[in-house]
Amino acid sequence: MSGYHPPVTTPEDASQEARKIPRADRLLAAAERAGWTARLGHAPIMEAVRSSLDELRTAVLAGTPCPPPEEVEARFLDRVAQGVRGTLRRVVNATGVVIHTNLGRAPLSRAAVAAMQEAAGYSNLEFDLPSGDRGDRYGHASASLCRLTGAEAAVVVNNCASAVLLALSALSERLPARREGAAGAVATAGASGRPEVLVSRGQLVEIGGGFRVPDVLRRSGADLVEVGTTNRTYLSDFEGALSPRSRILLSVHRSNFRQEGFVHDATLAELCDLGRRAGVWVVDDVGSGALFPTAPFGLGEEPTVAERVAAGADVVCFSGDKLLGGPQCGVLAGRREAIDLCRRHPLLRALRVDKVTLAGLIATLAHHEKGEALREVPVWRAIAWSPEEVRARAEGWREALAVPGVEVVEVRSAVGGGTLPGVTLPSFALALPPGDADAIAARLRSSDPPVVGRIEGGRVLLDPRTVLPGEDEAVLAAVRSSLPGRHGSS
Ligand SMILES: *Cc1c(COP(=O)(O)O)cnc(C)c1O
Repeated sequence: MSGYHPPVTTPEDASQEARKIPRADRLLAAAERAGWTARLGHAPIMEAVRSSLDELRTAVLAGTPCPPPEEVEARFLDRVAQGVRGTLRRVVNATGVVIHTNLGRAPLSRAAVAAMQEAAGYSNLEFDLPSGDRGDRYGHASASLCRLTGAEAAVVVNNCASAVLLALSALSERLPARREGAAGAVATAGASGRPEVLVSRGQLVEIGGGFRVPDVLRRSGADLVEVGTTNRTYLSDFEGALSPRSRILLSVHRSNFRQEGFVHDATLAELCDLGRRAGVWVVDDVGSGALFPTAPFGLGEEPTVAERVAAGADVVCFSGDKLLGGPQCGVLAGRREAIDLCRRHPLLRALRVDKVTLAGLIATLAHHEKGEALREVPVWRAIAWSPEEVRARAEGWREALAVPGVEVVEVRSAVGGGTLPGVTLPSFALALPPGDADAIAARLRSSDPPVVGRIEGGRVLLDPRTVLPGEDEAVLAAVRSSLPGRHGSS
């Protein structure tokens, strides 16, 4: 125990109190009656009995009075139930943050879930049905990815961080074929030493969860060459930094921060032009990977993957579970020569996408191809919801609750997921009565399913924008039992 807490009882009282601790038999019998022993087996129940009683004994000997046996029994059964539930649980996202990194990013469409369920059994993942020979895992998604992005070739890996690592590793080992005929000023073939990757100082970013561009670069076996300054980098800075060891010009979407004021970046088209002249690769880490223009949704001008491919990047890397709205994965899309090198690199084996994810991605891409993303892909449905629609749902909640002090307020929802920093959508939320907001939020999180809201101005806000269809009752039940004076005995 940390700190010194004067015991409420003397050690003699405490050992007297410890005699009130129920015997293990009593808890075992309770588990038996509740059906847990039949369901889980004897050993896990014994373990739960032992740890429950050990904890209780420690507390009692430290001076805490022993609760009545019925309560000890109830707490023990709660503990068993919690253990069964496990630690990874569904939650209701009422934060309004559409792509919430801590809440599992993109929720999947029904078709994606169905496809993943089907793929969970046997499939022709790497089996060519007509010939009966070995087939290609990566071929299944590539045609659709190429149609959606205009790329010549594509390959899917575990996430965008893997995509960047693979692109840098594979391309820093080889020169592009165009190098042979490169008319550029830098005649460099055959240079020895570690390959170099050139990147603007203003793009050496850290994306959430420890993805730092300089660190990934080092892992790929290349040396980082920082170009330009934090706020202004010109094409001439890249030109001036080219050396015989240069292999890749890297462009990185800043994703989770914005630069304003006296700033300049070399455009991707400029970099691609320089890459062609100098005979080096151009890799673009575009991150969130919008497949269609985002401006009409109030999200500003996110670059689309197709634009980046059209600008001439050899490889464009993006996530499958940000603006694409699919399962966690990463995509490399671009020129065939570059993608082929990535596909042949040994690292691909360690970064490869699994069958269930691949099936979910293919189903999500189909929504995009059919032009039904706004209706079917949950991320896009949430983004496309008009403020009026969100308000109507919040009003419905308010009326159903009929609790004084609960109101509907105007808010802004963030898109999140390390994308679109500072971009928010006009929205509405249910505001719970002012009071101990932290305690109310904690009770909402302890509901089943847990409901996660956000606190603003001392009030808990629940934003319907990110609450999935069919979750309304769960929100209402959680609110009812979480408001002060309404929750149970706890
Ligand atoms: C989000 C992001 C990543 C990391 O993507 P994961 O899919 O989480 O691995 C890498 N680069 C950029 C620019 C990003 O926005």
